[in-house]
Amino acid sequence: HVHRTSLVASAALSGRHGQAILLKNEHQQITGSFKLRGATNTVLSLSEDERRRGVAAASTGNHGRALAHAAEAAGARAVICMSSLVPDNKIEAIRALGAEIRIVGDSQDDAQVEVDRLVAEDGLVEVPPFDRAEVIAGQGTLGLEILEDAPGLEAVLVPLSGGGLIAGVALAVKTISPKTRVIGVCMERGAAMVACLAAGKPVAVEELETLADSLGGGIGLANRYTFSMVRELVDETVLLSEREIAGGIVHAYREEREVIEGAAAVGIAAVLAGKFRPAGPTAIVLSGKNIDRSAEHTSE
Ligand SMILES: *Cc1c(COP(=O)(O)O)cnc(C)c1O
Repeated sequence: HVHRTSLVASAALSGRHGQAILLKNEHQQITGSFKLRGATNTVLSLSEDERRRGVAAASTGNHGRALAHAAEAAGARAVICMSSLVPDNKIEAIRALGAEIRIVGDSQDDAQVEVDRLVAEDGLVEVPPFDRAEVIAGQGTLGLEILEDAPGLEAVLVPLSGGGLIAGVALAVKTISPKTRVIGVCMERGAAMVACLAAGKPVAVEELETLADSLGGGIGLANRYTFSMVRELVDETVLLSEREIAGGIVHAYREEREVIEGAAAVGIAAVLAGKFRPAGPTAIVLSGKNIDRSAEHTSE
């Protein structure tokens, strides 16, 4: 159902640091991000009846794309709710993957109200982007692949937002190789999980504009799984400036010949900025390629 993506040494980064630095090319996943793993695992775990009623989500980004594709592949109905402010190209991209689109209100909150209604009145199953066991387990398959390809890793660098990706990867990695360190990386601007770890509980964090747009948003005040898993399993977190994230995107393009989005560039950026110093073989997860090109169109 998903690609087994490659793990490839970066000559540029390995040469600079005198350690093997490997890139997990998950931006080459179908639909352009790892989110397909969790969405697919969740859709395939539904009962026949649930699959018929369908799945719903309010994401217009990588999770929405992934859920639309996973549902289509499994013959399940998918309804993606979005606000009237979502640009046409994003709507069409998700419609093209086979999902039904509901346009409601003019905010993400309005779209979520419609998801809640579909769940309550029509019996659809909400598939959240990170805080569900099947989603976390699906993302964890990426960690299994990394360790199969590179058993003796000293560290794995993982982009961190709601924590579904790092929770799954860390559980897989620590189960197989307890000594391998798992490092979460995100932007300084609106680092929700890091603020929650500092507070000792899920707290509301203001969302700010960032190049790492797929890392925006909170972890949910009623967080059930990812907060405690991150607290238990993640060894360290690193925060990056916008300039440092830009450096990661540029390095990926110039030196690795890969187009990745800001959220996916944070691992490379942490190494380039000297905020993570590799002390042994290190894997960096490149999590997605869906860079927002709207700024480019505006300037054209
Ligand atoms: C969703 C996403 C992340 C963050 O994943 P979480 O499970 O929310 O921590 C990182 N990179 C990309 C490209 C994403 O789409």
